[in-house]
Amino acid sequence: MIDLKGKNAIVTGATRGIGLEISKVLAENGANVAILDIQLGDASSIKEVEALGVTCKGYACDVSNPEVVEEVFKQILSDFGKIDILVNNAGITRDNLIVRMKQEDFDAVLNVNLRAAFVCTKAISSHLLRNRSGRIINMASINGIRCQAGQSNYAASKAGIIGLTKSNAMEFAARGVTVNAVAPGFIKTAMTDKLAPEVIAKYKEAIPLKDLGNPRDVANAVAFLASNEAAYITGQVLGVDGGLGS
Ligand code: NAP
Repeated sequence: MIDLKGKNAIVTGATRGIGLEISKVLAENGANVAILDIQLGDASSIKEVEALGVTCKGYACDVSNPEVVEEVFKQILSDFGKIDILVNNAGITRDNLIVRMKQEDFDAVLNVNLRAAFVCTKAISSHLLRNRSGRIINMASINGIRCQAGQSNYAASKAGIIGLTKSNAMEFAARGVTVNAVAPGFIKTAMTDKLAPEVIAKYKEAIPLKDLGNPRDVANAVAFLASNEAAYITGQVLGVDGGLGS
């Protein structure tokens, strides 16, 4: 049984998709959650998590901006007192073949998918190191391992996340802080809704378990890595991909 009662978590990019599901599963297991997103909209995500009986607060924040993140993390520490879990989940795509990819689309994807994980990890690292415990879980992707045409920005950012994860795991291990990555395959969210039906059909055929995954499949893996049961796991990349990456 995963028990996160009394733990406080920060989840980035959490007003929808996989980030919202992660927040809900952490909350179902007892954790309080700080939701960070570029915009909080009608705050329905916060209400959904709060309805699970935990404290949930939302913070509007571009997680790739170090000055903004530093201020917001100070506020979170003042609101929650202590942070135990950081989930670097925010991510975007701007797919194109490299000959057509604009420089700004390369930079935007690297900023949100990779730089933001560095920025948020750095902002909470002294706190976790001082507490001599903590969990950092970074969102990689199967496309940072296998890679594919049209995603040089996304694939580079997710391969970078794996490097960041392994390097940080080595740095934090002596202080009881674990750092792992989850690498989803194709998951039913707004990100994959953009794909053409024939592309989705092709992936379903290629996936050994013959279907796309659900955000909950990814969230369950994150909750496990955040738990005491995963205390001896660090520097790992856990694939949640229906066998596609095998
Ligand atoms: P999503 O539905 O597009 O949600 C991403 C969230 O991140 C959105 O709420 C978005 O805000 C927010 N965001 C974007 N830029 C931000 C910024 N600068 N600061 C703060 N928040 C920001 O994506 P998802 O499918 O749930 O994916 C979540 C993570 O899983 C990403 O890292 C993605 O690369 C990874 N992943 C997804 C899949 C998949 O199949 N879906 C597969 C492998 C990996 P807006 O709503 O304003 O855009």
